[in-house]
Amino acid sequence: MIRLKFVAATLLLFSTRLAFSQELKYEISFPNAVHHEAEVSLDITQIPAGPLTIRMSRSSPGRYATHEFGKNIYNVKAFNASGQELQISQVKGDVYQVEKHNGNARITYTVFGNWVDGTYLGIDKTHAHMNMPATFMWVKGMENRPVSIKFNDLDKYGWKVATQLQHKGGNTYTAANHQYMMDSPTELSAFKVHSWEDINTDKTKQTISVSMHSPDAQPVVDNFGKMVKRMVDESKMVFGELPKFDHGVYTFLQDVNPENSGDGMEHRNSTVIVERSQKVEGNEEDLLSTFSHEFFHAWNVERIRPKSLEPFNFEHSNTSSELWFAEGFTQYYGSLILKRAGFRDLNSYCNTIAGLANGVLNMPGANTYPATQMSRYAVFADAGVAVDQTNQINIFTSYYYYGATIALALDLRLRSEFKLSLDDYMKAVWKTHGKPEIPYTVPDLQNVLAKLTNKSFANDFFGRYVNGIDKNDYVKLLSNAGLVLRRAAPEKASLGMIRLSPANGKLRLSMNTLKGSAAYLAGMDNGDYFLKINDDELKTPADLNTLLAKYKPGEEVNLTYEHRGEVNTVKVKLQESNSFEVVPVEKTGKTLTPEAEKFRTAWLDSQIK
Ligand SMILES: [Zn+2]
Repeated sequence: MIRLKFVAATLLLFSTRLAFSQELKYEISFPNAVHHEAEVSLDITQIPAGPLTIRMSRSSPGRYATHEFGKNIYNVKAFNASGQELQISQVKGDVYQVEKHNGNARITYTVFGNWVDGTYLGIDKTHAHMNMPATFMWVKGMENRPVSIKFNDLDKYGWKVATQLQHKGGNTYTAANHQYMMDSPTELSAFKVHSWEDINTDKTKQTISVSMHSPDAQPVVDNFGKMVKRMVDESKMVFGELPKFDHGVYTFLQDVNPENSGDGMEHRNSTVIVERSQKVEGNEEDLLSTFSHEFFHAWNVERIRPKSLEPFNFEHSNTSSELWFAEGFTQYYGSLILKRAGFRDLNSYCNTIAGLANGVLNMPGANTYPATQMSRYAVFADAGVAVDQTNQINIFTSYYYYGATIALALDLRLRSEFKLSLDDYMKAVWKTHGKPEIPYTVPDLQNVLAKLTNKSFANDFFGRYVNGIDKNDYVKLLSNAGLVLRRAAPEKASLGMIRLSPANGKLRLSMNTLKGSAAYLAGMDNGDYFLKINDDELKTPADLNTLLAKYKPGEEVNLTYEHRGEVNTVKVKLQESNSFEVVPVEKTGKTLTPEAEKFRTAWLDSQIK
């Protein structure tokens, strides 16, 4: 993840014999793949005097919450150079120590993994889908040593290797150091490949490769690969060039199976894309959205990198105030690029914008806390596991959506007030921080904007909309492009966002009620049984809408609900449905002006000349 360290360690690897002998040598074998186990060994030489500490990670690059990978390793043993067993003790759940060694040790253990996504480990006869922090222990204090990994049993299962690690020969792959190794997810399977050569703006050539583990035939893979290329070419226009990939190759590691847990996880020279579809064929346009989001990360987060994520801490997740930019701006471009490349039509893009408005402008989190604070909540929200309930619905707004609405406003304001665009801003951030790999802070982002526009605009924008909780005037901004943001059904009576699931012959609220909504004001909450609106009983989840349709916003009704065995009836005033829609002005009976059409085209059409 860190270029400086990467280069330094590469030089060390090739220039000194010392480095070779210091190499941390891993081997991984799959004698019991059917029961999701792998056997791992790690040879360590030149161990300094004192205890040797080996541990599993508690976080993973690109995942912002803490995960306990140590729970899935067992049979941890240590041996000396002559194969005699050494005493090893488990000093913490995921930390092991060898007190006595003579400078050499072999650590062996079994790892279990049956979860296919971008964070964990999934092993069976069809593949070993490895996220490194979920698979490999590492040595404290030896993070700068070069690493090699030998993947065994490839012939036994008919597997090939897809990874951003460097191929050293045979089944052995290398990484310059611990950070790069942990950032290099690896798929062992009988995947199919579609790859092409990209000629960059400076005429250098790189390979982009889609490796696809799915039941699809090669022509499907090739056709999909061509769609991915169109997306890559459109993304390249935002920054003006592709990043320089470390070994001249970028790989999409795609795994498609209905048993998967869906995910996309960016890395420096590759991305893991895990889909739950039966196959790629017929689902191409859907699947592309993860590709466009993750590929945008090759610039934004991998190289335009928040200082708060450097270096990546494998013992406790890093906390970052910048995810509204790293994830949110990526979210914005993920769908914009698909629209520009012709994979989404105007209606579908309008729905995307409406989704942002609903997910942010109507949410108590975004109306109470700034995007920077919501970014820091990622350590709990990003696939973080909680046994107890949280109040996320009222205190948290996804930094993906929050950041994407900020990106949308900034794009439309740069276009309407400065004859610039967000692409110009992204290019400027790329030149200042991404290409030279100088990690940034929020004030750095503000400085780049000040240079592109002026100090007072950048001060105002960051002060009010990034560090503050003001919201831009989206109705006015979207009207520049002939798009109408409005309430979708203001005539509908509403209790607020409610999720009902059948339980014990009744209907139970399975989510906290939204602060300020009629249901919230009535005192109803998660776990309560919703029994009646006036005298009408609720029997199925669909009854909620049918019964509410009898009333108008502003009317008073009695809500009857049961909380821990106690039945309450409370009178509340029904509110108007606040959900948003975005409609092209020409579909509202008005005309699209030539200026608005020009604005819309410049924003949403292909940037490839
Ligand atoms: Zn992302």
